[in-house]
Amino acid sequence: MPAVICAWCGARIGESPVEHSHGICPACDRQLRGVPDLSESELDALPFGVIVLSKEGTVLAYNRAESELAGRRPEEVLGRNFFTDVAPCTAVQGFQGEFRAFCAGEGASKTFRFTFRFPTGPVRVQILFLRKGAGASVAVRKL
Ligand SMILES: [Zn+2]
Repeated sequence: MPAVICAWCGARIGESPVEHSHGICPACDRQLRGVPDLSESELDALPFGVIVLSKEGTVLAYNRAESELAGRRPEEVLGRNFFTDVAPCTAVQGFQGEFRAFCAGEGASKTFRFTFRFPTGPVRVQILFLRKGAGASVAVRKL
């Protein structure tokens, strides 16, 4: 049977009759589930990016790893709209559409792959939305 791979760390977590099946392994699930409760300094200590967005897309937090990945300082993006002012490449169904559906829905998390179009070139990432108030904590791991 095809392997089920953790969408976050790439570890093999089992087998599934469905091809290319993805889930989140228990270790990643435990770590990621706590992300929306972390303080700003705890977010800065994480090895992956985190952007906290209101349901309108306003950037409420922007951690160190995301700042390094995107090449933007937090003070340049905080309080601005992620989809229109910060990362217009995400104003597409495959990201903003997923975000709106997530905020309007009931699932605890949602993960998918995306390519950021940075001025320095495209970067493939795994995105994970986690519920944070009416908006989301968006975890970003470079692939
Ligand atoms: Zn994992």
